Amino acid sequence: MNPIYRDMGTTIFEATSARARARGAINLGQGFPDGPRAEAVIAAAAAALQERSNQYPPMAGLPELRAAVAAWYGRHQGLALAPEEVTVTSGATEALAAALLALVCPGDEVIIFEPAYDAYRPLIERTGGVVKPVALTLPEGRIDRTALAAALGPRTRLLLLNDPLNPLGTRLPESDLAHLAEACTAHDLTAICDEVWEALVYDGARHRSLMDFPGMRERTVKIGSAGKIFGLTGWKVGWMCAAAPLAQGLARAHQFLTFTTPPNLQWAVAEGLVREDGFVAEARAQHQAARDHLRAGLAALGLVTLPAAATYFVTLDLAASGVALSDREFCATLIDEAGVAAIPVSAFCAAPGPGHLVRFCFAKERAVLDEALARLAAWRAAFGRSEP
Ligand code: PMP
Repeated sequence: MNPIYRDMGTTIFEATSARARARGAINLGQGFPDGPRAEAVIAAAAAALQERSNQYPPMAGLPELRAAVAAWYGRHQGLALAPEEVTVTSGATEALAAALLALVCPGDEVIIFEPAYDAYRPLIERTGGVVKPVALTLPEGRIDRTALAAALGPRTRLLLLNDPLNPLGTRLPESDLAHLAEACTAHDLTAICDEVWEALVYDGARHRSLMDFPGMRERTVKIGSAGKIFGLTGWKVGWMCAAAPLAQGLARAHQFLTFTTPPNLQWAVAEGLVREDGFVAEARAQHQAARDHLRAGLAALGLVTLPAAATYFVTLDLAASGVALSDREFCATLIDEAGVAAIPVSAFCAAPGPGHLVRFCFAKERAVLDEALARLAAWRAAFGRSEP
């Protein structure tokens, strides 16, 4: 067996969810939403299953979905994409795998920014690429320009960026994106941009893609996911967008991974992207309200969180909260003693990483958040305010 997989455990999300189930804990660990339910999109999928083809759709995706993705990015992000520049994939995860398989040659160096989504490192290493991690500034999640400059070298070929960022819920300011664009053009790098959280940005902000910066249109692979846009994480419908020469290579890699994605789900996502802007806005508003509710509840317990500009996640700062446990100790104790599951941010970093940040998912029903807060309050009261 390949040592990358032989020596690896299950993901932190699987492990935490399993432990949460075993202990009857409220799961604020894994990032899936309780709602709202995208009824029209689900109905479109059910209808398509009965009324449309259930045979292999075109390898690059249903034309309706490719056109809908291109139009959605035109409307929401001011990008001018042609449908031919969109390849539909089985979730953003497959898009990431296809992009890395297509673009990395053995020995190529790939810059990632930590904390980083956990799939990046094993995918890069399995292509024979070499991971060059650059730590983001904490807790702001900004690009550390000195650290980036130190990581760039003659073998650097790619930069893999997640913005907005899971786990911290931060967004890069335009000045950082402009700096990354300059680095990519100066060093002739291709950027793979994982923007699955692009529709879940709060406080009236508008997502801007690295692809939109000078010199980036031809050197960016922009990855998105309907799972996040419509809160249907189990569907695994995603896509990757890139200019023609890149798109062709990506499609070649994709054709020998999953080849296609269920046609009824593709059809429904196309319908949703065309007709359901109202639902997406409503979902965003509900998540923002849930974020504010959880942050206020944690603050009332003396627990300090970082501002969450995007995603389903809010980050608890243990050090600022006066909690003298590491994030992993805190999360383990929290499941067992308080009955609430959360994710240690150090799981998103190669050792040593930050040890004082914990990720909570706030995209849950109000009653679930309130029960979690009540459990935390009871647990914290039992230990006094300065310790957990
Ligand atoms: N990238 C990031 C940053 C994510 O947070 C997720 C999902 N949690 C994915 C990729 C995977 O997306 P999908 O479910 O569409 O494969």
